[in-house]
Amino acid sequence: MATLLKGAEAAKALTEKLAAKAEELKGKGVNPCLAIVRVGERDDDLSYERGAMKRCEKVGIAVKNVVLPLDVTQEALIAEIEKINRDSSIHGVLLFRPLPKHINDEAVRKSLDPAKDMDGITDGSLGAVYAGTKDGYAPCTAASCVEILKHYEIPISGKRVVVIGRSLVIGKPVSMLLLAENATVTICHSRSQNLAEICRQADILVVAAGKAGMVTKDFVSPGQTVLDVGIHVDAEGNMCGDTVFAEVEPIVDKITPVPGGVGSCTTAILASHVIDAAEKTLK
Ligand code: NAP
Repeated sequence: MATLLKGAEAAKALTEKLAAKAEELKGKGVNPCLAIVRVGERDDDLSYERGAMKRCEKVGIAVKNVVLPLDVTQEALIAEIEKINRDSSIHGVLLFRPLPKHINDEAVRKSLDPAKDMDGITDGSLGAVYAGTKDGYAPCTAASCVEILKHYEIPISGKRVVVIGRSLVIGKPVSMLLLAENATVTICHSRSQNLAEICRQADILVVAAGKAGMVTKDFVSPGQTVLDVGIHVDAEGNMCGDTVFAEVEPIVDKITPVPGGVGSCTTAILASHVIDAAEKTLK
């Protein structure tokens, strides 16, 4: 049986470290604060917002909620973001997307100060992640993958990593983060040939294709670590990932469950980005 890599365990350990840092910051007169900007009342957003607020409370991060109606104009949304950019008491921003169709996503993303971009949505923040400097923040889900590997002390340096997916939210940034950890990274996508064969050669397989059950037993081999980023609801109404867990788990060495894997560590990563941004104000 494979070891289950539980995101909640990695998140708990990180939360404890962050809480100590938050205390230290407060002792130096810095009160870490996250602004959560939400347009409308989407269930997914509300659920993540609750999780993020709970995590911030545990760490000792203040949260400022900015809630705008679904018919908010692009100008009004950008004005709110610019107000947050100027507010030195706010260290980071989480902006829920997708935005309503009448709002230009790129214009809104461009309005956010990259230094306050906690979820890697601005070119500036992502660019820093790609450049390998410490000035940007990767999307929380991508960083969550790396945090789980580190928490479970799974070696990354020199290992063969295969990432399925090249989105800006997961595939590309997780590849850059793992490259920065000295992995040998192969990025696969919908045009990749011999995908199963490439995946079988990995030490660590990161699956972020957004296709329920696409990774079968043919994609894996003994000794591997599998991080399944996909989130879906199956025909019975249960959550599942991109891997066929029942087939893959008996073969590999370690695997993240869905639910309870990568997604369970993302709010802790968000909190870590806020603490980091708050610490930068001391420098
Ligand atoms: P996305 O933007 O749809 O990107 C999917 C990527 O997978 C694309 O690069 C695509 O290739 C590739 N792909 C699709 N089908 C493939 C196939 N058959 N073979 C090889 N590659 C294939 O999705 P995303 O935003 O990265 O999200 C991926 C998954 O993660 C989704 O299930 C999403 O719900 C989940 N997710 C989870 C969390 C979490 O907290 N756990 C957070 C966010 C998202 P092309 O580029 O060639 O099209």
